[in-house]
Amino acid sequence: MSIDVRLRGILNRISAACEKAGRSESEVVLIAVSKTKTAEDVQQAVDAGQLVFGENKLQEGQDKIPVLSDELEWHYIGGLQRNKVRKVLGLFHVIHSIDSLKLARYTNNVAADMGLKPSVLLQVNIGEEVSKGGFNVEELRLSFGDLLDLSHVNIVGLMCIPPAVIESEDARVWFRKVAQLRDLLEKEYDVSLPHLSMGMSGDFETAIQEGATYVRVGTSIFGSR
Ligand SMILES: *Cc1c(COP(=O)(O)O)cnc(C)c1O
Repeated sequence: MSIDVRLRGILNRISAACEKAGRSESEVVLIAVSKTKTAEDVQQAVDAGQLVFGENKLQEGQDKIPVLSDELEWHYIGGLQRNKVRKVLGLFHVIHSIDSLKLARYTNNVAADMGLKPSVLLQVNIGEEVSKGGFNVEELRLSFGDLLDLSHVNIVGLMCIPPAVIESEDARVWFRKVAQLRDLLEKEYDVSLPHLSMGMSGDFETAIQEGATYVRVGTSIFGSR
């Protein structure tokens, strides 16, 4: 199947999931995750109308972003090392993977130096897995005041990669926990956190039912890696 046919299929499934959840389609943004795929593959999705893309490595962004239309919106969704922050900020529009107070502070300083105020999401290690990055729930609740003090990052929400599950339905509990954490932080700190970045090829419909506003879909659009 071609990229444009697969893309249309995913957009239809997103509409159906929104309808089922009683949500407006305009609340959910599809991030087409083009990691390991070529700029030509991305261009095929652009030709089919897709404008929002995600990458998990700086190098891939450096290869693809400059050769494609500057109308595209790029989301950085991978683990972020400090020595990559400056270049990532120069290329990407939104960072989903701020996973510690230390990295947030560092990113804030670099953004200030560059005269930027990027939108960022805080990655939550919702399953408290040792193998995964992200804030633990308690850690995030304690650090959140300090995070809000950072004046050169705009914290717009939470991102998660839940523990691996067999059935997409089993991911629901994790998505719900992230949504509840968002609600709690909004209340405790009297702020608005409009975005929940959750749901991938195997479980984006469940994530939409639980409030996702960004779904990150790779394989189902671009094929297996
Ligand atoms: C690769 C990746 C995705 C997309 O996963 P698929 O299963 O291919 O849809 C989503 N989020 C992150 C953080 C990823 O690294």
